[in-house]
Amino acid sequence: MVRYLASLFVLLLLAGCASVPKPGLLQPAGESSAQELCRKYNIECRWDSVSQTITMVYMDKTIKALVGSDMVVIGKNRIALSASVYRKRGAVIFPPDFERAVFGPAVVPQEDYVKGAQSGRLKKVVIDAGHGGKDPGAIGVAGLKEKDVVLDIARRVKKGFEAAGVVVVMTRDSEDFITLADRTSIASQPDVDLFVSIHANANKSRGVNGIEVYYAGALNRDDRSEDQRLANQKKICSLYNMRSDIPDLRAITSDMLYAYKRAFSPGLSEAVARGLAREVPRQNRGSKPERFFVLRNTLIPAVLVEVGFVTNPKEASLLKDNDFRQRLAEAITKSVLRFVYVSGF
Ligand SMILES: [Zn+2]
Repeated sequence: MVRYLASLFVLLLLAGCASVPKPGLLQPAGESSAQELCRKYNIECRWDSVSQTITMVYMDKTIKALVGSDMVVIGKNRIALSASVYRKRGAVIFPPDFERAVFGPAVVPQEDYVKGAQSGRLKKVVIDAGHGGKDPGAIGVAGLKEKDVVLDIARRVKKGFEAAGVVVVMTRDSEDFITLADRTSIASQPDVDLFVSIHANANKSRGVNGIEVYYAGALNRDDRSEDQRLANQKKICSLYNMRSDIPDLRAITSDMLYAYKRAFSPGLSEAVARGLAREVPRQNRGSKPERFFVLRNTLIPAVLVEVGFVTNPKEASLLKDNDFRQRLAEAITKSVLRFVYVSGF
């Protein structure tokens, strides 16, 4: 269809009549309809024909636009557009700057995950389902256990990556307990590009809910010489046939790995938080630096995704639901692949 419209547009150009397209067939360049935007960003649009107002909710922001007006209200802010919102054949049409003002330059169209998969830049990912065995993780509403929720989601994420041609290594693919040290050791093997740890959150207050994603913050002195970190460095050095007994060489390797990790982890974390919150959809509690063991002791770009709160009644029931788990898993896979495409990972 897109190809058909594109060739039609070319024909119109060649015929010298591009300035008089059939009404409703081609919109002026850059304009977008409410329907297109809502489909593109997977959000709900509500149209009120009495007040001629369209309302969208996107990442906790409510966006209101009035037909005939060039002002749009985004949360508590009012933004002036280059032209008024108007209606054409029943559709609500926005001027070209509306999409950017509302959805922001950092937001990438959803389809770009396909380009990320096709780029072939992401070859191998380690998926880490948190906790397991004797360690149930957080226990939530009606005894819902974090370890069970995250293992199922991790398996779904694995399937998603494999479908995109990415090799997946699971730190655990069973009920068995595995130490944090072993998880980071598994991530320290040849050609692993990325480490994605999957957890579910808990809070004393039942009302707290939403998505959080973490990445490793700055390392302090003790972190740098932490036993597991040194063991993983040694392993990496030997994998690449580098001598690990020369302190300077080890320090340089470590700094290089850390710089590489830091170059990508925060952006990846932000992309996953946004992608998940938008597509699942749940509240985005943000992307944050943290000193979690598996983040500071892995030597490759790494994120830890908190998929929701097992202590929140609404999210606990969602986290039990197979469809919701599948949506979460797909959103994780797509957000990572989209990031790979836009970041030059
Ligand atoms: Zn956890």
